[in-house]
Parts: sequence; structure tokens; C-alpha cells
Amino acid sequence: MTTTEPRTGHRICPLCESTCGLIFELDARAVTRVTPNPADLMSAGHSCAKGLGLGELEADPDRVRVPMLRTASGEFREATWVEAFDEIAARLPEFVADPGSCALYHGNPAAHHLDSTFYLGELIGALGTRNVYSPASVDTWPKNLAHMLLYGTGLGVSLPDIDRTDYLLILGSNPMVSNGSTVTAPGMHHRLRALRERGGTLVVVDPVRTRTAEVADIHVAIRPGTDALFLLGVVSVIANECLARPGRVPEVVDGLEAALAMAAAYPPETAAPACGVDPDLIRSVARGFAGAPSAVAHSRIGTCMQEFGTLANWLVEVLTIVTGNLDRPGGAMFALPPSGGPNTWPTGKPPRLTFDRWRSRVRDLPEAMGELPAVCFAEEILTPGPGRVRALITLAGNPARSLPNSAAIERALGALDFMVSVDCYLNETTRFADVILPPPPLATRGHHDVTLSHFQVRNVARYTPPLLELADGELSEWQILLRLAAIARGVPDRSVADLDDEVAAVAVRRAAKLAGCEPERAAEAVRDRRGPARLLDLRLRSGPYGDRFGGIEGGLTLALLEANPNGIDYGPLRSRLPEVLRTPHGRIDLMPEMIVADLPRLRASLTRVEDGLLLINRRQRRGMNSWLHNALPQPDGGQCALLMSPVDAAALRLIDGDQVSVTSRIASVEAELRIDDALRAGVVSMPHGWGHDGPGLRMSRSAAVPGANYNALVDDDTDLEALTASPIFNGVRVTVARTSQEHG
Ligand code: SF4
Repeated sequence: MTTTEPRTGHRICPLCESTCGLIFELDARAVTRVTPNPADLMSAGHSCAKGLGLGELEADPDRVRVPMLRTASGEFREATWVEAFDEIAARLPEFVADPGSCALYHGNPAAHHLDSTFYLGELIGALGTRNVYSPASVDTWPKNLAHMLLYGTGLGVSLPDIDRTDYLLILGSNPMVSNGSTVTAPGMHHRLRALRERGGTLVVVDPVRTRTAEVADIHVAIRPGTDALFLLGVVSVIANECLARPGRVPEVVDGLEAALAMAAAYPPETAAPACGVDPDLIRSVARGFAGAPSAVAHSRIGTCMQEFGTLANWLVEVLTIVTGNLDRPGGAMFALPPSGGPNTWPTGKPPRLTFDRWRSRVRDLPEAMGELPAVCFAEEILTPGPGRVRALITLAGNPARSLPNSAAIERALGALDFMVSVDCYLNETTRFADVILPPPPLATRGHHDVTLSHFQVRNVARYTPPLLELADGELSEWQILLRLAAIARGVPDRSVADLDDEVAAVAVRRAAKLAGCEPERAAEAVRDRRGPARLLDLRLRSGPYGDRFGGIEGGLTLALLEANPNGIDYGPLRSRLPEVLRTPHGRIDLMPEMIVADLPRLRASLTRVEDGLLLINRRQRRGMNSWLHNALPQPDGGQCALLMSPVDAAALRLIDGDQVSVTSRIASVEAELRIDDALRAGVVSMPHGWGHDGPGLRMSRSAAVPGANYNALVDDDTDLEALTASPIFNGVRVTVARTSQEHG
């Protein structure tokens, strides 16, 4: 592979669930231009400013490109890889030997890269820790848990068959800006327009008239945190007006009548006052949904980061099921991921939910999918006693700006005895590290979305190979992870090649079993590959479309994807019930015990009187949580402004441009006020992930415009979603007051 001639190559964007196909232009090792790939079978030329800005991200002069070591004086100095790993080998084993004292935090990018997808588990296993954290417990667990209870896995979620539906109900999501989440449907604006053009209906439930709400037929400007009550009202209409048409689904569903009977007690007149909407609007949505030839509801972050997140996400599925829209075209369907996954693999015997298998030390909060709730992160470090976390490894994560209660997180990071970060930035988190290990340039990585292909609205397989070889002084992320794992296992001198062979040997046995062949045949089929490419080939060839290691002519292999850089189309989503189910009894229990036990809490909220302001998060086109702000500054200087409705501004005697303090139970931040009639009264909005301040940062552009830190305001203690212990990120009770007047 030459690295000196200007050239182009395919690259799937690793930034968000849309997974757009892009074309990289390279001059030597520099990414000189990024354009959308019109021939990509999934994204068909769609992209956004973030993906097109990947060249700027790669070229960001602030990026960490060589290992960094903290010196005795507390400063960082550049180091060699040998020095960095020697330091880790000298200090990490002490914590590995002390059960519970070593934690790992991985950020959102870890879900998008093959290296971490395949090798992070090796490191976690070597650390022997149950103290694993990620932002999933901040923004996704309620959805994962609801789907796990109904369908058996947290990852194999049902998806909106957006391209064939006649009625799309979106709750807590703004895909015109976010490009979609837990749904891989690039070019969402085209898809929503196509829905309208074929005579379909789009309904958006959101406290704000978002960009998506602006193109909807119906916008339900709901009070934050009341989606579950709204959905109960909708299902009650279906129950009370005998609109339920479950179709063939009852063959695999238990509790359908009980669910309808339960919902019948929440007619629109009961639910609507708490939701702050007209009862007739609830009735109209219910009749429209039930009467459409096909209909589907899609819930996302707004429904997860709230008090009744699991109930809201469960009710989305209840609505889908009672109207007969599960597992049929235009309804909610399940992808068939090319590299397989929890809902394609055979179940264990008996299948077991990956929830509450262990609990946190301090607050006794439940695990989900191998991780503890992020609200435990700070207290597990700061609370003395056996099992206190004293060492931390972070991977592509910035908990100091992604988790709630930033002050507590930073206190905790400062209290660690040892910290290693695999990260390309010296940010609010990694500034506490003792060693920073930089991942290599993006163009050195191959890409296939193992995780996100569970969310694809069409079954397409794609792979983009590395466009560059590693340069001297660069290590692949998978090599870094294996080196860390070797140190944790007490074999620091073991070669990465040997370690990789060990990982592959396990994967070969597993793949051979799935493919129904001898391990020798599987091993022989991938013998020329190494690293993530070998593990991916094993997954693809033993997956749903795989060649079974030569057993099925024309079956999927990595080589086939390499020969088809725009992807291979395996068609629209297709019916997968009942084989998709991984529940203990192979059926759908529509009234799971855990859910039923939480309903009285929801009922009690009906009479709650909310006065004051509720703060909610908003998406930004160029932002990706906390980490793109330095490379892709927002074009508008008011990116972190607090948006407020004219009604509230008038009541508080505030005017556009005022500097205001925003104060929650735990903190106060300052922001510029912008008055915006897109917000309903009683709701204010800011983006999260900002607040790029404090000593020791190497993020010159974002530190120059640090912005207000939303996360500092979010409680990690008293306000939690009851079932998953997710923080209530949307609907934070705040007061707002002028600190100074900028204009007028
Ligand atoms: S929508 Fe943007 S960030 Fe997301 S995958 Fe596409 S180009 Fe990347």
C-alpha cells in the first residue's frame, strides 16, 4: 500500500449511528478532503458536517499523537511507547491484584470501532473488574432494559421500519439534527420527506418545536418527563375504543389483555393534564396510529433520560404490539446483522437477562449488560472501604463532561492513585491521567459496524479497509488494548501477535460451532488475516449471510465485502418472530413483573404539580457529546445559550442576550439567554458536553469558548430513573436569574 501518492478511498463514518459512506482523499498521510459516497448502499450520498469534518479532526493540532507521561512535577511530557508501558507495568498490577479497585470507563466512540468492539472485552477480563462504566447508562439503558424484558436482549432492539411505514410516531428524538440514534437510517430528512410524499403521517412528541417537529404533521409539545403518561393515554384509547388489532402476534405474546386493561384506566382526560397537552390530541394520535395500514413508534434519548424512562420505552412496544405492528413491514422489526449478535446466536440454557447480575458496592445499584450505572462512578472512587476504586482506565471517554455532576466526577478523578487514558485529547478527564496512550489516525483503521448493524433499517453489509498503514511510532488501538491486557494478566512481555492468536483461537472455536464446521476449517479460512480483520471475518462467515467457511457458495466473507466497497444489500427488514426472541420462555411477556411493580410510581405522578422551569438537553449539528468541539467549532458563538420561551422570559423580566445563572439542586452555571418561541412554557434548553474549562487542557479552540456545563447541573444522587438508575438528564428542575444585561 503506497502512502505517498494522492489517492481516494472508501471510509464509513464512525461518528454516529447513521454510519454514512464517505470518500476520503489523501495526500501522503493527510486527509485532504472528505465527501459523501453517493454509491454507498446504506447512505446513498448522505453525510453531515461532522463526517465531512473528519479531515479537520484528524489534522487538529491539539491532538495527542505520542504517549504522554505525568512527571514528578505534575506536568506531562512526551514519552516513548516503551516508557509508557513500563510505567503502566510498574503500577497497574497492584490494583489488578486488589479486587474491585480497578475501573474502566469507555466512551461513545468505543461502540463504533472494530478495535474496541473486539478487544475491549479482553482488557476488562484481564482487569477482572465489574467496575465498568459508559455513557450508555446515562442515555440508553431504559430502552435497553425495556427491550431486554420483552425480547430477551438489550442490543437486539426493535426498529422503526421507517421506509415502509404509513405512520411514524417519534418521541424524544430529533433525527433531523441528530441523524437518528439506536436507528441506522442515514439521510433521515429524505426518509421523513418520503413518508409524507407517500401519504404517511409524521407525529413528533417533544417539548420543543424541533427541526423534526417542524416537518411533522402533528407536534405534541409535551411536558418533559411525561412520555409514559402520554403513551398510556394513547393505549387507553385503543383499549377503550376497541381499536386493538394484534394480528398474528398473540401467538407469542402473554399479557396482552392485561396490558390493555391496565392502560384503560388512563384515559386521555386523566393523562393529559400531567402531560400538558389537549386530551383530544392524545385521542387523535391513538386513532391515527391504530387506523393506519402500518404504524410504528420510535423513542430515543428524550424518553431514556427521564424519570419514567423504562416505562415509556416499554409502552412504545405495547402500543406497537396491541396494534399488530410488531414484526411486519412498516411496523417495528428486527435487523439481521451481518456479523451476528445476541439475537442471532443460539441462547444459553436457559437464557438469562443481562441485568442485575451484580450490584454496586456503595449504593447497591444494579448492573446492566456488564456495566454499572454511571451515577456510581464518583462514589465508587470517593467512598472509603474495601473494594474502593483506586485505579482507572479510560478509553475514548470524557466522564468529566459526559456524566452527571461534573464536580463530583472531577473530585473522584483527582482522588485516583493511578489512571491510564487511551485518548487523542488532553481534555477535562485525561488531564487527571498518569499515562495517555494515543490511538492512531482514523485512516489506519478498517471499519464495519458490528454493534450498529443491529439498528439498521435495511440489511446491508459493508466494510471499509484501512487506507493507511501504521507509521513509525503509531500503535493500533487493538494493539494498545492487548498490551494493557497483557500487563493486567501479569505477562507484560508477551507479544501482541501471540495474544492476538489466543483471542482468535477462542473466536475460531465459537465461529466454527456457529457455522457447524470443524475449527480447523474456520482457522484455515482466516489464516492470512490478523487483528480485528480476522475476528470480523470469523463473525461474518459464521453470521446469518456467511459462507460457513466454504460451505455455502457466494456466502458472505470479508473478502467479498472488500470487493464490494459500497456494500452488499441483503434487502429490507424481514419478519423474525419468534426466532428472534431470547427471553427465558421464548415468548414475549407484555407485563413483566419489574414493569408492573413500577406502575404505581407513574400513577402517583399524575397528581404532581410542576411549577418552575425544567431544563432539557438539545442536539447540535456539529457536536458529538463533548469531543468534537475542539476540531469542529460551532459556527454560531451562542452555541451554549439557554433557550427560553417568551412566556417565561416575560414572567422573569428577562430579555434576549441577558447573561443568566441557571441553578439546579447541586450547581449553578452561567449562560447567555436566547428567547425562542419553539419552546413550550416551563421548559428551558441547553446543549450538554460543554464547559471546557479548568487547568491543564490542550484543546485551544474549545477552551477559548468553553460554554456552559449542563452536566454540572444534573443530579447523580436523588433524581434517578427507578429501574436502571439512569440520571434524569431531561427535566432538571432549575431556576434562572439575570446576572447582567448585555443588550438594551
Ligand atoms: S450523519 Fe454525519 S456524523 Fe453521522 S455517520 Fe453520517 S456523516 Fe458521520
